Amino acid sequence: MLQLSTLCVFCGSNPGADPAYADAARRTGELLARSGIAIVFGGGRVGLMGRVAEAALGAGGKVIGVIPQVLMRKELAHDSLTELHVVNTMHERKQLMADLSDGFVALPGGFGTFEEFCEILTWAQLGLHTKPCGLLNVKGYYDPLLALFEHAVREQFARPGHLDMIVTDDDPTRLVERMKRFRAPVVEKWLTPQTT
Ligand code: AMP
Repeated sequence: MLQLSTLCVFCGSNPGADPAYADAARRTGELLARSGIAIVFGGGRVGLMGRVAEAALGAGGKVIGVIPQVLMRKELAHDSLTELHVVNTMHERKQLMADLSDGFVALPGGFGTFEEFCEILTWAQLGLHTKPCGLLNVKGYYDPLLALFEHAVREQFARPGHLDMIVTDDDPTRLVERMKRFRAPVVEKWLTPQTT
């Protein structure tokens, strides 16, 4: 079993159309706090990000924000976090979020969330880390993305083993349990090394 002391949460800066998303964000924040797992996140107080942070803080958890100066200036930073790191660029932010965390979870979100999750998955694919990458598939929100990933495997732009790098569940408790049991698959990145 992996020791997950700190998890990075990627999620929407909007609340989404269905209250089920905010409810899942709240349950995730409370669960992590009650499990003694610190949260690293983008530092915002808006959308699902705010819901996760507030729920975790309300349940006595530790919440660490990592926010670039530019978003700080837009006054969207949460002002009562356990720690807030203000960094210079989006790239610095992602590196610090990754360095501080034992694993990554994406809740429903938009382009920012997709990009963060896919980049961390890319780093796993290249063997730069072996930490678990979880998708909280609330209401099947990520079914189309998972279908696209399967399409990429069928079309030979990714290997079947790469799909095993993603842990999915629609329930936060089960997702975290699965992430604890995660073992990084050993997969060669390129399908035809002789042609690359
Ligand atoms: P999106 O899914 O497009 O709403 O983007 C959400 C992701 O981008 C989060 O995981 C954050 O890391 C980052 N992000 C977007 N908006 C903000 C914000 N106002 N404050 C902090 N981080 C943000």
